[in-house]
Amino acid sequence: MAYSYDDQNIFARILRGEIPNRTVLETEHSLAFEDIAPQAPVHVLVIPKGKYVTYDHFAQAATEAEIVDFTRAVRAVCEKLGLEPGAEGTGYRLISNSGGHGMQEVPHLHVHILAGRPLGRMVMPV
Ligand code: AMP
Repeated sequence: MAYSYDDQNIFARILRGEIPNRTVLETEHSLAFEDIAPQAPVHVLVIPKGKYVTYDHFAQAATEAEIVDFTRAVRAVCEKLGLEPGAEGTGYRLISNSGGHGMQEVPHLHVHILAGRPLGRMVMPV
């Protein structure tokens, strides 16, 4: 499928510096910042700097350098915040909502990193 990117989405505006953010980590191709409405004690969003709408779009169209950078940026945030799975009280959940059923609100690819407490079941029962 062909994607069209909305340059006015809130994360595009953050990347242009038009809206402030609480940066956790920045790399050549990625930015990680705190979610404005945290759903857990740790709630960080990681986004590519490129204009990608969803994970599907990114996997299809991003360069290998962007994909490697983004994948490692997610891990680097987890390392920086001491979340690597292992010891008691660590671990995290990654979520990337895509499209309508995914209930994606912001049309710029982002991975949520949620941590800091037991997170319950993956999906709420309907
Ligand atoms: P999603 O529903 O997966 O598209 O999630 C969008 C996320 O972006 C939500 O968790 C919002 O709280 C978050 N968000 C919206 N605006 C901002 C902002 N200006 N800074 C940080 N996070 C934001």
